[in-house]
Amino acid sequence: MDFAKIELRQYLAKIKANRAKITPQRVEILNIFLNNKNDHFTAEEILVKLTSSKTGQATVYRTLELFCSIGILKKVIFKNDEISRYDLVDLNNRHFHHHLVCSNCGKVIEIQDDLLEILEEKIEKEYQFKVSNHELIFNGICSECKGSDINEP
Ligand SMILES: [Zn+2]
Ligand SMILES: [Zn+2]
Ligand SMILES: [Zn+2]
Repeated sequence: MDFAKIELRQYLAKIKANRAKITPQRVEILNIFLNNKNDHFTAEEILVKLTSSKTGQATVYRTLELFCSIGILKKVIFKNDEISRYDLVDLNNRHFHHHLVCSNCGKVIEIQDDLLEILEEKIEKEYQFKVSNHELIFNGICSECKGSDINEP
């Protein structure tokens, strides 16, 4: 079995574990996220990608909300457009990945390394606060935009 199928199975197992049904529409939406891991789709973008399968808007919204509630997707909002987007949660990572958002071109770069272990430990010790997850967005200028600025006369 190839890796993509093993991965899909993991997500389907999570849906089942939450006593939700596995429908063809749910599998199709899940596959869109699995095949476009670096994208952060809006509900409308998912709807457009599903036009061939006659899946209605209400079904798409309900599915996205369901996936969020069981921890398969996470809603993210980036400062450059303030639109709700959906992001696939990596089930093999303990915590959610970080985002770098370029203020110039709007590009979103994902960082899979947690990098926060020392900080988490400090928070748990000093504030007696058990960290379960975190959402971190860094705003700045990407390497391409930075490069083009330097090259300007
Ligand atoms: Zn992301
Ligand atoms: Zn962490
Ligand atoms: Zn940029």
